[in-house]
Amino acid sequence: MKQAQKLVAPVLEAFASKRGFASQRFAARASEEVVAVDNAARKGCDGVMEVPSRLLMGPGPANAYPRILTAQALPLLGHMHPPFLKIMDELSEGLRYTFQTKSKYTLMVSGTGHAGMEAAIANLVEPGDKVVVGNAGIWGERVGILSRRYNADVIELKTPAGTTFSYEALKAALTQHKPKVLFLCQGESSTGTHQSLAGLGELCRQTGTLLLVDTVCSLGGVPLFADQWGVDCIYSGSQKCLSGPPGAAPFFMSERAMEALQRRKSPPATYNLDMNLIGDYWGWFGKRSYHHTGPVSTFYAMREALAIVSEEGLESLWKRHQEMHHRLWDGLRSMGLKPFVEKDEDRLITVNTIKVPDGVDWAAVVKHAMDTYSLEIAGGLGPTAGKVWRVGIMGFNAKPQNVDLVLHAFRDGLKRQGKL
Ligand code: PMP
Repeated sequence: MKQAQKLVAPVLEAFASKRGFASQRFAARASEEVVAVDNAARKGCDGVMEVPSRLLMGPGPANAYPRILTAQALPLLGHMHPPFLKIMDELSEGLRYTFQTKSKYTLMVSGTGHAGMEAAIANLVEPGDKVVVGNAGIWGERVGILSRRYNADVIELKTPAGTTFSYEALKAALTQHKPKVLFLCQGESSTGTHQSLAGLGELCRQTGTLLLVDTVCSLGGVPLFADQWGVDCIYSGSQKCLSGPPGAAPFFMSERAMEALQRRKSPPATYNLDMNLIGDYWGWFGKRSYHHTGPVSTFYAMREALAIVSEEGLESLWKRHQEMHHRLWDGLRSMGLKPFVEKDEDRLITVNTIKVPDGVDWAAVVKHAMDTYSLEIAGGLGPTAGKVWRVGIMGFNAKPQNVDLVLHAFRDGLKRQGKL
């Protein structure tokens, strides 16, 4: 240490005197053992970054609208500056449209879908509360894990991969357990299923249950009417059908969910995701308090994303997703490919799961698409790993030329293996 100080001190002296600073100041810092800088990692992150251009037709992220990316380059504002607070208000309003709610409790959680998921569980559930978790794939499984970390009494309902829960099965579970929360994933991206929410809001009201729904892969792609369907809490993602960058999780709470939050015996175990505190930043309770620095540029992007949703209109957005799903399946079926999800009504249109035929190397098809067309299609996840391909048709990407390129890549990939 002495040796290092001897070496560094004269350099600091010279630097200080050149700038007219008191050398004393640097001497004090020098006593913090200033040694020679280790440059080993310096070369690993320098120069101008290069990013390849890819068409992202996997389960997400999807490509962003260019206008959304441009919005991110706008000048930063302070996270409490009035013009930024106005943008946050506009985001809340845009979410009210997207969720179809009049609830004042909408906002973007700063973080990805997982942050929305954790915010929902941490705020709705108190230790010992019963949570019925519909596990139809990895997202239900994950909500179960997360809920246990918040000391919930988790009752897991399982359904085979590729199927959804019937109203009767859910009614039986609610009647038996009368849980505080029922969790369902509207668009289960690991299996490609679309869980119907019909009648569940009413059922949940009968058993005093809050209905929590994951819409990360479905919001903007398929119909959702938060108020009309009696949903109490929703979290979603920015990088799927809304075509924004990852990092902001659309979030909604009903009046009932808010009342439950206010009735808690103790505050949520997370400070970072405490919706009373975050709500205060978003003006839910009539004032604005600093909780964290909102991700300013990401919120600009989402402001633009929600403007695009409102310009196109939900009906035409849902219709576009539907049409592209049919276009995909017309082409896939003509190659002899089959959906993993047997029943038409269970099939998610935004993330499509395609059965890998016997003897086909699924990974080679994926690799060929990427190598040849810079096109991302994905393999399975969790219960579908090795069994399916997953093709996402979401937001900006839901257009004919992209679907046709996916079909072309499949045809090509199968031919190379002599399977077509
Ligand atoms: N839920 C679903 C249905 C998802 O598809 C995903 C992401 N693929 C998540 C939750 C988690 O979102 P994120 O990766 O943005 O945290």
